[in-house]
Formats: sequence, structure tokens, C-alpha cells
Amino acid sequence: MRITPRKEEIDAVKALLEDPGFDSADQMAKALIKEVGEILQMRDWVALVHTWSDGSRGLNWAPFGNAAEAEAFAKKVSVGGSGRLVKLHSPGTMLANIDGKRGWKGYCQHEQCGHAPFTHSAASAARGACQIPTCPCDKFRK
Ligand SMILES: [Zn+2]
Ligand SMILES: [Zn+2]
Repeated sequence: MRITPRKEEIDAVKALLEDPGFDSADQMAKALIKEVGEILQMRDWVALVHTWSDGSRGLNWAPFGNAAEAEAFAKKVSVGGSGRLVKLHSPGTMLANIDGKRGWKGYCQHEQCGHAPFTHSAASAARGACQIPTCPCDKFRK
């Protein structure tokens, strides 16, 4: 997984590392692994889908951070047959559109919102307000 850490990802990890509330290193490590899992679920990935040379379904590998990484892998671990790249979209981003992602870049910064920009209405009466039923946000905040 070749990735370039993003600012909001670094901030989220730093917040845990600097949190004085952990009783043990084990507890902090668990929280970090969960946080990083959630962070990685906010990214799109590439999968390498393989077909054997007789046309039968082959082996699939994922996730790769980008196409170049998947291609380099395919060259290095050649098993014959052919391969193609498939884009994997982030389930975390989809969930964040509904559940909200508080303080996350690209999502509404309203304290109780955190929803995606497109959930905010462009219609005249409710212009700017979030359309998720339970959300009190009246204006998208950058
Ligand atoms: Zn909202
Ligand atoms: Zn909002």
C-alpha cells in the first residue's frame, strides 16, 4: 500500500499520540490501529484482477495505493495469464456522506454535521442547509 499521508490523517494520528488519557501503551496501540484502519477506509484503492492464460478466473490482489504500484507488483510476481486494474471506491467515504465525518477535510465543518457538500441543499428556501434528516446544520461550513 504505497500512500502519501495527508494532513488530516496526520492530525488524527497525532491527536491520539498526544492524548494523555491512555492508561497503557497497549490501549494506545489499539486506538491507533483502529484509527488508521478508519483512515485507510477513506481512500480509494486499485485491485489487480487476474485471468489465467486458458481464460479461467485467476487470482486477485488488492489493495494497491495506485496503478503504478499494482503494475510494478504484476511485473515482479509474474504468474502468467493476464491482468487488469480495477478501481475500488472507498466505503468509508460513502458512509461519511451519510454518517458524517466531523472535522474531516472536504466535509462540512459545522459542529454537528460533518456531511458531504452534496447533502447540502442548493434549493432557494433551504439554501445551504444539510438535507440529512437528523442534521441541524443550516449552512455548509468550510
Ligand atoms: Zn449534515
Ligand atoms: Zn453541514
